[in-house]
Amino acid sequence: MASLPFLSQLKQHNKDQLKVQSKDACNKKANIFIDTKVASNAKPPDTDLEKIDCPYKCGVAPFYKCDNHVAIAHASEMLPGKLYLGNKDNAESRTELKRMGITDIINVTTEEAQNFLKEYSYTNYEIDDMGDVKIGEYFNLINRKIEELIENKKVVLVHCLHGRSRSATIVIAFVMYYMKMSKDDAYNYVKKRRQFIEPRPEFHKELLQYEKELHSKS
Ligand SMILES: [Zn+2]
Repeated sequence: MASLPFLSQLKQHNKDQLKVQSKDACNKKANIFIDTKVASNAKPPDTDLEKIDCPYKCGVAPFYKCDNHVAIAHASEMLPGKLYLGNKDNAESRTELKRMGITDIINVTTEEAQNFLKEYSYTNYEIDDMGDVKIGEYFNLINRKIEELIENKKVVLVHCLHGRSRSATIVIAFVMYYMKMSKDDAYNYVKKRRQFIEPRPEFHKELLQYEKELHSKS
């Protein structure tokens, strides 16, 4: 059950699911302590970790700075007031969408767009979470869509299940296109704003291919 999105785990407050998630999102060998009061089995992490409250006051407080609660529970700002990267829960949370001022949601999972929130516009590109998926075939299509939206003063959230591989790859491709960055620079740009990202190795190759494509056009 460890793959349940963070906020779903939180909502369910199920001890077994809330225990500890292993992590590799930061250099310190710590685990994600979602809520140590609930996760009674969890050992406290190293005491040198700084304890902070969630800046978005979502009720998970305090958390340990290197535990990356913010990256896991909340969407991350990519282009201020224009573009955000997050997970499925973010896309379904009015609180979270309101916090960012989102108007349009781009869902890059094979799960149907969660268009039950009638006040938001959802677009779904069905990208499977598999290494043999040619994610590069979507880059131009989605980049033009995002560009059109932000030029029309819309605020866009791109999400997949965790906001880690598929949607991160899509956002890196957009940064390459829109900000005319190399693949490595765009990756670092996104990683700096969402330390948690980890595109599949195959997706890295697709981004390198896209870099060549963009370069040949310029
Ligand atoms: Zn929070």
